[in-house]
Amino acid sequence: MFEEYLENKLSEIDGAGLLRKLRLISSNPSAKIIIGDKEYINFSSNNYLDLAGNEEINKAASQAALQYGAGGASSRLVGGNFQVHKMLEGSLASFKNKKACLVFPSGYQTNVGVISALAQKSDNACIVMDKLNHASLWDGAKLSGCRIFVYEHCDMNSLESVLKRTKDYKLKLAVTESVFSMDGDIAPLAQFARLCRNYGAVSMIDEAHCSGIFGKNGSGLDEEIGADADIIIGTLSKAFGVQGGFVCGGQKLIDYLINKSRAFIYTTAISPVIAAAALKSLEIIIKSDSKRKLLLSNAQYLRDKLKSLGFDAGNSQTQIIPVITGSLSNTQRVADMLMKNGIFAPAIKPPTVPEGRSRIRISLTSAHTKEDLDKLIKELK
Ligand SMILES: *Cc1c(COP(=O)(O)O)cnc(C)c1O
Repeated sequence: MFEEYLENKLSEIDGAGLLRKLRLISSNPSAKIIIGDKEYINFSSNNYLDLAGNEEINKAASQAALQYGAGGASSRLVGGNFQVHKMLEGSLASFKNKKACLVFPSGYQTNVGVISALAQKSDNACIVMDKLNHASLWDGAKLSGCRIFVYEHCDMNSLESVLKRTKDYKLKLAVTESVFSMDGDIAPLAQFARLCRNYGAVSMIDEAHCSGIFGKNGSGLDEEIGADADIIIGTLSKAFGVQGGFVCGGQKLIDYLINKSRAFIYTTAISPVIAAAALKSLEIIIKSDSKRKLLLSNAQYLRDKLKSLGFDAGNSQTQIIPVITGSLSNTQRVADMLMKNGIFAPAIKPPTVPEGRSRIRISLTSAHTKEDLDKLIKELK
């Protein structure tokens, strides 16, 4: 019965052309990767500063493994809170120019844990969301059970008209990404934060794709633009090249989350090995201005080329560049063609992106060379 049920469900997914399968990667996730026994230029990873597999980070992780052991062993609140966690949180808070920080085992968990803890239905809270926010933000919002107001993507007039409808709520939590993960465009963060202040809403910005890339020492766009949002989310799994997520804000926010965030309380502490690796990664990120410049100038080069060839790269202003191909079949055809020619750039389909907006998502890293980019352009052409 159960097997048959699952088989039917899977064939429904397959029939819609949306079946997902795991692919085995047998090398570091750098600018070149090995899949099967073939090498590809890799445009699929969020390893923006090429720090996944970095030797200094590996060493810091190994030392931590010998010092603390690989496992966190229990919840941070019980017996799993070590010096390395405290150091990482202290460093991340100053990196993001905030008073305090709390680390979670993943960015996904951070978003779910922060939103669902802050927005409580019994406290008469509501949530305001950009339409294209990441799944982890949506999942946190849905879990809260609160009313969710949605505004048009990056449209501040739409945000304002939504905020006007929230005045009867005691807590209004407004959430946006700073760099959108599937479009590589940038939210108007200064206006976002200002509107939130004007309407008494708490502002929350997810900096998953801009931490390490933009701002002074890679601090992010909240810093660069001077938005000064109330809550900043980051991940340790993208530019950091490690794993985990974090939230930065005031000390009271962090104290509250330690008490109320179920995704923090009811999970084992992030491994001290990972925490030590992330701490080392942060040290490197702060000194990586030349890599940041190279990454962003490569992105500019690729965008200009794509646009001059008539491709639709959306409103990308960052190292994430969509090549919007529209239909499922067209997108899959392009992805297959690239793969055949030694380029791994995955097809991104609904529900990750809206219907009819399927795309090849190019994500660049500082390890890509001009030749890599020219090869991509040549094959796309
Ligand atoms: C990837 C991503 C996350 C989740 O981070 P993980 O550390 O990979 O779990 C959260 N928010 C956004 C916008 C992301 O793109």
